[in-house]
Amino acid sequence: MLTLNAGAWSAMVEHARAEYPRECCGVLLGHLDPADEDVRTATVAIPCRNAYDGDQRDRFFIDPGDQLAAQKRARVEDLEVLGFFHSHPDDEAYFSATDLANSWPWYSNVVVSVRNGEVAGAACFRADEERTRADEEQLNLPE
Ligand SMILES: [Zn+2]
Repeated sequence: MLTLNAGAWSAMVEHARAEYPRECCGVLLGHLDPADEDVRTATVAIPCRNAYDGDQRDRFFIDPGDQLAAQKRARVEDLEVLGFFHSHPDDEAYFSATDLANSWPWYSNVVVSVRNGEVAGAACFRADEERTRADEEQLNLPE
């Protein structure tokens, strides 16, 4: 279960709208419940550059420098890297075969659907160890 606080969600929405019709991407930081690491709260969504060298309407690659900066910020602010987010311009919030192939196990992956430049929904996914499948993870958005 991943809960996004209002700040993280609005940063994600803003980035997804700004990058439309290209895919946006970024890193999620926050906390794990000490008793259950599957209970996660994201407090920061860091917008990153999409460094995919090609048509960015249906592909993304998080800029490595931006990702490193996000990891550094997590250490400095004593937060965990919980996962990643990206958008699907004019498409559903699903986890594609490409998303699965490029994912890492354990991390939460939020996919935001953007229709005509406006956010239309979001869902969260986690890949298994072998990256053969991804299960939907419960996503709680702020009111
Ligand atoms: Zn995707």
